[in-house]
Amino acid sequence: MKIIMLGAPGAGKGTQAKMIAAKYGIPHISTGDIFRANIKNGTELGAKAKEYMDKGLLVPDELVVDLVIDRFKEPDCQKGYVLDGFPRTIPQAEALDKALSAIGEKVDYAINVEVPDENIVNRMGGRRACVGCGATYHIKYSPTKVEGKCDTCGADLIIRDDDKPETVKNRLNVYHEQTQPLIEYYTQKGIIAEVDGTVDMNDVFDAIVKILGE
Ligand code: ADP
Ligand code: AMP
Repeated sequence: MKIIMLGAPGAGKGTQAKMIAAKYGIPHISTGDIFRANIKNGTELGAKAKEYMDKGLLVPDELVVDLVIDRFKEPDCQKGYVLDGFPRTIPQAEALDKALSAIGEKVDYAINVEVPDENIVNRMGGRRACVGCGATYHIKYSPTKVEGKCDTCGADLIIRDDDKPETVKNRLNVYHEQTQPLIEYYTQKGIIAEVDGTVDMNDVFDAIVKILGE
């Protein structure tokens, strides 16, 4: 099963992708997580990506596409995967389709998690990320047991640099200009599924399971 998560930054793509990965036994591939790991490890790719991420801009397609396509070749991807944060532009979607059709495969579902812009700023302002394992929390909607410490690994929680209010505005503009057209792209392909992302995260997941099947 090959699934793409669509939606504005902060809509809950990562939250739902993790739940999908756990239920269906497929890997969760987040390009944002891959870039953040590269930044943390001080790689050349990380340094290049950071220049764009800190401004709320997209990393250029040529730095993203090969990275994801190489990731598909790993043995854990045989049963499929859930892509979170990729594709984010029409050229990325076309590159993905081309790479998949070359091996006789295709995307099965593009799930659009719908959240209006006015809810997004609130969502991202309260998001906290673990510096150790990358787990995501929300101070109000998904708080940790001990304030500021990850429930899973105990490491410190931080506010992502790109979750600062000014950057969030840029990211939303970039989303509307460059990523939202993918909804039409996958509608044309007949694989789009829409879910209301404003409800409780477990209810969002129930709606997704109805689409994907038990
Ligand atoms: P994305 O991957 O789309 O950027 P995340 O999954 O990181 O978004 O979610 C953004 C923030 O909103 C996180 O702090 C997360 O805990 C919180 N969140 C996710 N889904 C919901 C929901 N349905 N209701 C309230 N908060 C949510
Ligand atoms: P995310 O964790 O998905 O919110 O991504 C954080 C940031 O990483 C984005 O704002 C972009 O700067 C960059 N990024 C992640 N995925 C992509 C992608 N597919 N194309 C371009 N930039 C990306």
